[in-house]
Amino acid sequence: MNATECEVLVVGAGPAGSAAAHRAALAGRDVLLVDMQDVPRDKTCGDGLTPRAVHALETLGAADLVDVDAGRPHIRGLKLHGFGGSVTAPWPEHPEFPAWGTAVPRTDFDTALVELAVSSGARLRTGLKAVDVDTDLLGGARRVRAVHFADGTTVRCRYLVLAEGVRSGLARSLGSQWLRGLVHGVAARSYCPTPFGGEPWIHSHLELRDAEGVAQPGYGWIFPLGTDGEHGSAVNLGCGALSTSRRPAKVNVRRLLASYASQCRDDWDLGEPTRGASALLPMGGAVTRVAGVNWAAVGDTAALVNPLNGEGIDYALESAVDLVDMLPDADTSPDGLRHMWPSHLRGRYGDAFSLARRAATLLTMPGLLAALGPLGMRGPLAGHLMGSAARLMGNLVTPEDTDLTARTWLAAGRLSSAHDRFWHAESRPLFGA
Ligand SMILES: Cc1cc2nc3c(=O)[nH]c(=O)nc-3n(C[C@H](O)[C@H](O)[C@H](O)COP(=O)(O)OP(=O)(O)OC[C@H]3O[C@@H](n4cnc5c(N)ncnc54)[C@H](O)[C@@H]3O)c2cc1C
Repeated sequence: MNATECEVLVVGAGPAGSAAAHRAALAGRDVLLVDMQDVPRDKTCGDGLTPRAVHALETLGAADLVDVDAGRPHIRGLKLHGFGGSVTAPWPEHPEFPAWGTAVPRTDFDTALVELAVSSGARLRTGLKAVDVDTDLLGGARRVRAVHFADGTTVRCRYLVLAEGVRSGLARSLGSQWLRGLVHGVAARSYCPTPFGGEPWIHSHLELRDAEGVAQPGYGWIFPLGTDGEHGSAVNLGCGALSTSRRPAKVNVRRLLASYASQCRDDWDLGEPTRGASALLPMGGAVTRVAGVNWAAVGDTAALVNPLNGEGIDYALESAVDLVDMLPDADTSPDGLRHMWPSHLRGRYGDAFSLARRAATLLTMPGLLAALGPLGMRGPLAGHLMGSAARLMGNLVTPEDTDLTARTWLAAGRLSSAHDRFWHAESRPLFGA
C-alpha cells in the first residue's frame, strides 16, 4: 500500500476543489488535489456564468478565464420569453458585480482551473477515487486522519476539503446528508451548433410545452457560447424543473430537452443537439453537517446552488475561497472548522437561500407560474418587473445595497430564515454542525 502525506487534501477537481487547491497553495500550504476522473473531463452543466460568477473569478485571480478578448462571449443579460410576451432584462449596474456575464463549456473552464491550481503549486492526481476515511475522536468530534483511495493509496492530511460535487460519498460517510425532500433541481443540457453563437443575451423560456403542445413544468435556457469555441459557433441549450418530495417534478427532462430544441430550431437555425446529459442539482444549502474539526464541504457537496436560477459555479468558487481564508483561524481553534464553517455559510447564504428555497418551492405549485407569468411578462411594467426579478434570481444583492428592491429582499430573507430557525429549532438541519 502506498502512503503519502499532505497538509490540505482536496477531493474533487471541479470549480470548488480547484479553487480551494489554488487558494491554499497560494497561501503556502502543501496541497494535494485528487479527482477520480481524468482531466479534461466534462460536467453536465448550462455553462452559464452570471455577474456574480465573474466577480468570484476576479476574487480568485482567474479573470482571464472569461476574457472577452480571448473569444469568450460578453453577455449583457437575459431575454425572457413566455406567456405571450418577451422581456429584455439587462444585468444591473452594481458597485460590486460587473454588468455582464459569459458562458464557457465546462470542459474548458474546469481544465483551466485545474491548471491554475497546479501552477500555484498544488500537486494533482487524477483517475483516483477516494473511497473511505480514517477518523479518530478529538474533544468528542470526529477528526479525519487519512483518506483511502481505490488503488490502495492512503493519504494522511491535516485538512480535508470535500469538493466531490453532488455524489458526495466521503461527505456521506462523515455524516453529511442531502435533504432531497426540500426543493432541488433536475436538468438536462446539450450543445447545438447555430450561426447565433455570438448572441449577447441569455434566452430563457418560462413556458415549455411537449411535442403535443401540452404545458410542462420547467423552464428552458439557451446560453450562447461564442462563435469559435470548442463547439464552433454554438449554444448550450437545456431545460430544468424544480422538485420537492411533496410535489415531485413529473417530467422527463431528456425528452423535454428534445422537444425544446425542436421548438427553437427555426429561430436559432439550430443543428442537431449533441452530448445531451441530465443530472440532479442539490440546492439552497439543503444538507446537514458540512464540517468537522478538520474537514469541510464546499460547492455542490454543501448544496451551494441558488434555487432560483440553478447556478452553482459562483458559490463553488466563493465557498472555496472563504474556506481556505478561514484555515488560519481553524489552525488555532481547538474546535477547528466544526462550528466556524457552518456558521459562516449560514451568515453568508442563510437568508438568501432560505428565501430562494421558499420562492422555488412555491414555483413547484401547479398553475402558479401560469397564473402569475402573464402579469410579469406583459404590460407596461413588465421590463421593470423582470429586470428586478433577474437581479434577485441572480442573487445580485449585497447587505451594503440601499435601494428599495434590495432592502425589501434582504428583509424578506431575514424573515424567511427566522421562520426556518423557529420551525427547525431542534434539528437546525441546514448547514448543520
Ligand atoms: C444540467 C445542469 C445545468 C447547470 N447549469 C449551471 C449554469 O449554467 N451555471 C452554474 O453556475 N451552475 C450550473 N449548474 C450547477 C453546476 O454544474 C454545479 O453547481 C458545479 O459544477 C459545482 O461544482 P463542484 O466543484 O462543487 O462540483 P463538480 O463540478 O461536480 O466537481 C466534482 C468533482 O469531484 C470528483 N469526485 C467526486 N467524487 C470523488 C471521489 N470520491 N474521489 C475523487 N474525485 C471525486 C468528480 O469527478 C468531479 O470532477 C448546472 C447543473 C446541472 C446539473
